[in-house]
Amino acid sequence: MSKFDCDLFVIGAGSGGVRAARIAAGFGARAMIAENYRVGGTCVIRGCVPKKLLAYAAHYAEDFQDARGYGWSHANPAFSWPELIRNKDREIGRLSSIYSGLLARSGIAILEGTARLIDPHTIEVGERRVSARYVLVATGAHPFRPPLPGIEHAITSNEAFELRQLPGRILIVGGGYVAVEFAGIFAGLGAMVTLSYRGEQILRGFDDDVRSHLHEEMGRKGVRILLRSGVSRIDRRADGVLEVALAGSPEGNLACDAVMVATGRIPNTAGIGLSEIGVELDGEGGVVVDRYCRSSVVSVYAVGDVTNRIALTPVAIREGAAVATTLFGGTSVPVDHADVPSAVFSQPPVGTVGLTQSEALEAFGELEVYRTTFRPLRHTLSGREEYTMMKLIVDAASQRVVGAHMVGSDAPEIIQGVAIAVKAGLTKAQFDSTVGIHPTAAEEFVTLRDKELVHRTETV
Ligand code: NDP
Repeated sequence: MSKFDCDLFVIGAGSGGVRAARIAAGFGARAMIAENYRVGGTCVIRGCVPKKLLAYAAHYAEDFQDARGYGWSHANPAFSWPELIRNKDREIGRLSSIYSGLLARSGIAILEGTARLIDPHTIEVGERRVSARYVLVATGAHPFRPPLPGIEHAITSNEAFELRQLPGRILIVGGGYVAVEFAGIFAGLGAMVTLSYRGEQILRGFDDDVRSHLHEEMGRKGVRILLRSGVSRIDRRADGVLEVALAGSPEGNLACDAVMVATGRIPNTAGIGLSEIGVELDGEGGVVVDRYCRSSVVSVYAVGDVTNRIALTPVAIREGAAVATTLFGGTSVPVDHADVPSAVFSQPPVGTVGLTQSEALEAFGELEVYRTTFRPLRHTLSGREEYTMMKLIVDAASQRVVGAHMVGSDAPEIIQGVAIAVKAGLTKAQFDSTVGIHPTAAEEFVTLRDKELVHRTETV
């Protein structure tokens, strides 16, 4: 009989934690899980899933317009934000109970409340103390609110999912995933959207062609993007309107109905006893882990956003499964973080895998870059001015495709397939030997011919 109450105690019932607990239980381990909000975590409750539902909703506005070119005529369609939010909430409730059901069926007890580590093997949840052979921290992250006067008037993505009405004019602060996704959602649903970003171009870290192309397309859809711009204060006027002082921007003051800060996320490590028991945290509060997701305390592991590595649900799920397999499955499984594809569900969306051009140049010195920009067939009849951009980056020496990037309709769906080829290390010739599917946008990835040679200019 084990001296512990359970083999694995998971803190946080999000994607990574739930996967770890279920895989552990599958190996016969006794697992428990604590959650202080709702089972499902950020992705299901106030992240990927509801965000994508809102993005679908936003796209209908264009679909109705585009249908006219195809012979459809109809009265002006009307949109109800409260109805969308109600329907979204119903779906999220359904998914959350599926997650709870999966845990229950695997024999995993769910403890409601905030868990705190007392020592490397003891966890307290409310009045209850539980001992565990291993602890897995999977507490996720929360939106960061920059400290500026009037920040209490701003919302984050958490509140954006719960707004009672659609704001007429919204300012979004930030230029990352959340900022550009919500800019597309609000603009598509009819709001006047201004995006204020402090840097030179949105989506820092993405390929430069992706960044500039998306900027242009978002502009065409009515999103006003201010670069090198920052908010210095937010005031609420007597009539309820928000007055925002924009620093470093010719705009000056901006009047709007809502301000949303999308300025990054902070790992949820405060107040759960981690530093007290010796778990090392990085400068941003993330749990420092090795390639097996083990922290500086041997019985404590961490996965997902709380580790401040790649904050993506499928990565957290991989990490959760790897930890459970390492601890209870008899095989040590490191997590492979190379060539992780990702998408930004902007309007139009972005899909990307592998290296950006500048990363590839740094790594290989000499590249062949294939790029195309075209108006998709669909928009010949719709009349919409929208362009798709696709790009392959090839290491000139090995001929391996080391990066694939796309901005345009269905980019996430298309890049998921291309990602298999990039992960497998296939060459440009192998891409070319694959027959395209016609007529699709995706076929461009196997028919790109015009290349540009790019060399690294060595600096002495
Ligand atoms: P990101 O890190 O992507 O973007 C944060 C943005 O806020 C950046 O533009 C950053 O600017 C800016 N910023 C940071 N601090 C300040 C500040 N003090 N004042 C002004 N601007 C500031 O964070 P997100 O919250 O958008 O997303 C968090 C993570 O969640 C992502 O990195 C991603 O991993 C994940 N995610 C994934 C999605 C998907 O897969 N589709 C969707 C949403 C989130 P700068 O660039 O100059 O640092």
